[in-house]
Amino acid sequence: MTSTQPQQILLSPPHMSGAERHFVEDAFRTNWIAPLGPNVDAFERELAAHLSCDGAEMHCCATSSGTAAIHLGLIALGVQPGDLVLCSSFTFVATANPICQLGAEPVFIDSDEESWNMSPAALRKALETLATEGKRPRAIVTVDLYGQGCNYDAILPIAREWCVPVLEDAAEALGATVSGKPCGTFGDVSAFSFNGNKIITTSGGGMLVASDARTASQARFLATQARDPAPHYEHSVAGFNYRMSNICAGVGRGQLLVLDERVARRREIFAQYQRALGGLAGVEFMPEPAWSRSSHWLTAMTIDAARAGCSRDALLASLAAERIEARPTWKPMHQQPLFSGHRMFAHDESHAPACERLFRDGVCLPSGSSMSDADLARVIAACERALAPSRATAVASQDAAASRTG
Ligand SMILES: *Cc1c(COP(=O)(O)O)cnc(C)c1O
Repeated sequence: MTSTQPQQILLSPPHMSGAERHFVEDAFRTNWIAPLGPNVDAFERELAAHLSCDGAEMHCCATSSGTAAIHLGLIALGVQPGDLVLCSSFTFVATANPICQLGAEPVFIDSDEESWNMSPAALRKALETLATEGKRPRAIVTVDLYGQGCNYDAILPIAREWCVPVLEDAAEALGATVSGKPCGTFGDVSAFSFNGNKIITTSGGGMLVASDARTASQARFLATQARDPAPHYEHSVAGFNYRMSNICAGVGRGQLLVLDERVARRREIFAQYQRALGGLAGVEFMPEPAWSRSSHWLTAMTIDAARAGCSRDALLASLAAERIEARPTWKPMHQQPLFSGHRMFAHDESHAPACERLFRDGVCLPSGSSMSDADLARVIAACERALAPSRATAVASQDAAASRTG
């Protein structure tokens, strides 16, 4: 059956370089078909080298997922049952789940409008309020949303002042920087994801990153069933089966070679969307503060329905009708049934939390680095038809006139 339907444009599909095959074939040739192996060791070293800057050496532990890296990172920070953990509300659920799975309690922190990430003011308010109740959180979990780092120049001094360690969920932000320093190096421990939709992928996988070699080696120990040194199987603590396979790490090594190109293309896609749609009434793109160089993993924008004359959901529906995959921004954790009853600290207590609006009005547009210019133009035209029908008609008739006279 032939179809006249246009090809579906996906949100963020995997984008192979071709170089992955070399490393994967090497794993086959040497029969390293196992969790662990030379590709895993090399992938850890290569990513650590990529992140190390200004003489600060980073240490990596490759994991079966980003979620596993977050889980191990929380353990590394000493999170235990009954602890409080401050956590950015505007994120994917995998940031918060491991907190509860350790028996700890997440306390959610709002975003600010400047970065869409953890509000330093809300973080300070939470620490002050909890202190008056005689409580000090065990950890702070920040999230570098859609490829943009947090305002770490404000957040880290607050964390230090209150002596609370930071776990940086940089799952979406490999290749981004804050004040020139790579995302994934701001936390006492940090986590990346190489899920199929992320900026580079291993099909599924993650990485725990630490500035301290002992933290990384302890994570490797726990991720490999916590085997004590002995000729037999000896265990004194409960571990996990959280290591990355040598095949997946081969894919990751091939992907890491093209990381800079992938970031450049995602930034270009964001810039083109912003140029074409940024002037439309009621449309605002995720801001990129002067201190941030986002990877723009996903291009995100908000639609003010009253000013745009089109709601967020109407835009999503018209894109879906044209076989374009767009998504709402993450629904904040404090609004999820899973976390109902958990506390939330707003950026500005006299207003609703900022992240509630960023979710209500927020859209992520197709942003894959393999997207062609023609597909990008198709998405932009579809957005214009929904958001500025009169302008879209005018452009279409100009084009028609041009093609008649040309
Ligand atoms: C993708 C993602 C994760 C989880 O990573 P997995 O590799 O899918 O387990 C965690 N946090 C954020 C913010 C993510 O986007």
